[in-house]
Amino acid sequence: MSTINILGSTGSIGTQALQLVRLHPDRFTVKALTAHSNAQLLFQQVREFRPEMAGLTKPIPMEDIPADLRFCRWVMGKEALRVAAAEVPADQVLVSVVGIAGLQSVMDALNAGRQVLLANKEALVTGGHLVMDAARRIGKPLLPVDSEHSAIFQCLQGAADNQPVKLLLTASGGPFRTWDKERMARATRAEALNHPNWSMGAKITIDSASMFNKALEIIEARWLFDMPPEKIQVVVHPQSIIHSAIEFADGAVIAQLGVPDMRVPIQYAMTYPERLPTGSKPLDLFALGQMTFEPGDPVRFPALRLAVECLNAGGAACTVLNGANEAAVAAFLREEIPFGAISTLVEGAVEKLCHLPANNLDDIFAADAAARAAVAELLPALR
Ligand code: NDP
Ligand code: MG
Repeated sequence: MSTINILGSTGSIGTQALQLVRLHPDRFTVKALTAHSNAQLLFQQVREFRPEMAGLTKPIPMEDIPADLRFCRWVMGKEALRVAAAEVPADQVLVSVVGIAGLQSVMDALNAGRQVLLANKEALVTGGHLVMDAARRIGKPLLPVDSEHSAIFQCLQGAADNQPVKLLLTASGGPFRTWDKERMARATRAEALNHPNWSMGAKITIDSASMFNKALEIIEARWLFDMPPEKIQVVVHPQSIIHSAIEFADGAVIAQLGVPDMRVPIQYAMTYPERLPTGSKPLDLFALGQMTFEPGDPVRFPALRLAVECLNAGGAACTVLNGANEAAVAAFLREEIPFGAISTLVEGAVEKLCHLPANNLDDIFAADAAARAAVAELLPALR
């Protein structure tokens, strides 16, 4: 039996993690749940899973909490994340909030000695060196939930002491894989939210359309697997069956395959190193017939180029890329800017701010704020 705290329990990853808890009631007990704005869903989850603690980062009055849910300790505001990450004892902390909000939670959980299951890629993108140092200090590896990084982590289980010479990071290519730059620049919100293979939260779905998701994942892989960017190759694979692969010195390539279903990597992190049923459909290679591969195009998708430039720049450049992208995606989702403006805004912010330092969390939060301010300043010209 493992105890688990879930930060971001109302999201795409959080709700799937709870489905897995429901599937294996003898294996998991939920101790803490946090949500941001979806109080109604959180109430249902608290009613079903009966955690010790629950909280909403967007506070509501305590009197709005239904009488039958007062058995649990309620915490409002950012404090909810800290309590769920570091105070309520649990074997595992799943950080599945979206955005840089995850960084402090990951650090809090690690500093409290907790095993972190990491869905929130923004924590590594913005504070990779601090997060990896903290994980090393407590001697517990971060267990990746992101499907590509879980795939690489799974492939590494058979590697003994052999270091891969290359990571092959697969990408579906998103809804605009075959679109030309001009058509993409005018894409609508509905078109960008229409992902061909995966059903995910709105932010990561837009990132998949712009390939900023892959940019963030290059940075995530750099930290998780200590790989320089030139040894991380993006492979566009529209069927999303190979979830990523690693190449060894002898030329052997080991890949992890399966139907696109996040329950597999979420549960692998929850039960590592054991494997249990997830409810996922088995892979039918005959029904699939064929798999195809193409290179990522940094001209139509500048995110791929920017990720490498920011990694090479060091300091807070990746934090700036992430903060500017979060602000630009939010503006696109509010339908204030065209799709093509997202990468223009991120590039503008990176050019202006890529020299900022990232020596500690305060530096990182300052760089994030500066990136958002730069986007706000550049945005009116791009409406
Ligand atoms: P969702 O948008 O579906 O869910 C996000 C969760 O975080 C919700 O519970 C939401 O609460 C909460 N939340 C939103 N804003 C804040 C905030 N400012 N502070 C604290 N909590 C907040 O996202 P996903 O589940 O899709 O993604 C979560 C993370 O996992 C992201 O970092 C993403 O990149 C990563 N990931 C997701 C994958 C997927 O398949 N979805 C795949 C790989 C990685 P509420 O809904 O109550 O407002
Ligand atoms: Mg991914």
